[in-house]
Amino acid sequence: MKGEYKTKARKCIVDFLKEHADRRFTVREIYDQISTEAGGIDKTTVYRNLERLSDQGEIIKIKEPNSDSWFFQYSEDHKHCNSHMHAQCSECGKVFHLEEDFVEEFEEKVRKEYGLDVNLGKTVIVGKCDDCKKKD
Ligand SMILES: [Zn+2]
Ligand SMILES: [Zn+2]
Repeated sequence: MKGEYKTKARKCIVDFLKEHADRRFTVREIYDQISTEAGGIDKTTVYRNLERLSDQGEIIKIKEPNSDSWFFQYSEDHKHCNSHMHAQCSECGKVFHLEEDFVEEFEEKVRKEYGLDVNLGKTVIVGKCDDCKKKD
């Protein structure tokens, strides 16, 4: 019974994020949206599932610009968000998936120069996107 409960929570979360793949949500928002449907699960369960899903690369976990809260977003075309780096606009929060070769070069250089193995899935470059630059 417990396993079924867990699977249901996970499915509700994924379905919800998939339906709104163009948006990002905080744990609180996701919890508010799915808790009833998922059989009254608690916030910790939602959070644990989100953590696991982002570790598995199914969803992206990124900091909300100008705030301390994390947000989660489904990643339709990018199945492996745990294995590439992301960039994010600090103004509008738009996320870019950096799957290009130069990231590998960067990773290699950081390893050689600083002895640091970069956790690509958890690394986010912050900047300002073209759309936001145009608004100025
Ligand atoms: Zn990604
Ligand atoms: Zn922007």
